[in-house]
Amino acid sequence: MSCLFCRIVAGEIPARRVYEDDDLLAFEDINPQAPLHVLVIPKAHVATANDLTEAHDALVGRMVRRGAAIARERGVDGSGFRTVINCNAHAGQTVFHLHVHVLGGRPMAWPPG
Ligand code: AMP
Ligand code: ZN
Repeated sequence: MSCLFCRIVAGEIPARRVYEDDDLLAFEDINPQAPLHVLVIPKAHVATANDLTEAHDALVGRMVRRGAAIARERGVDGSGFRTVINCNAHAGQTVFHLHVHVLGGRPMAWPPG
């Protein structure tokens, strides 16, 4: 298995897990860009947002809602947070297993760089 995040799901690579259920895993980003920087991923491999189908609609909804729940747990729901899905080169995707970045705890610029 060569996918980094599939290996984290399998427990072959350690991660600081913050949430897990049958379908989703959330863990701390190894190179945090904000006081809160958690990645929410599906346990089943999906490479990019381009690979999503209607069959994934509920899963993606749960990923975003889990991000909001984690933001609430960390106390940044009121101040605000950002959820990001990078897709392919122009967005800077580096790990080709779908993930929602959940960033918060500081003001963030818009538009992104
Ligand atoms: P992206 O650039 O959107 O593909 O985001 C990939 C993210 O995965 C980056 O923010 C990395 O810091 C993060 N990352 C890479 N390897 C690990 C790892 N082993 N554990 C946790 N986060 C990781
Ligand atoms: Zn994978």
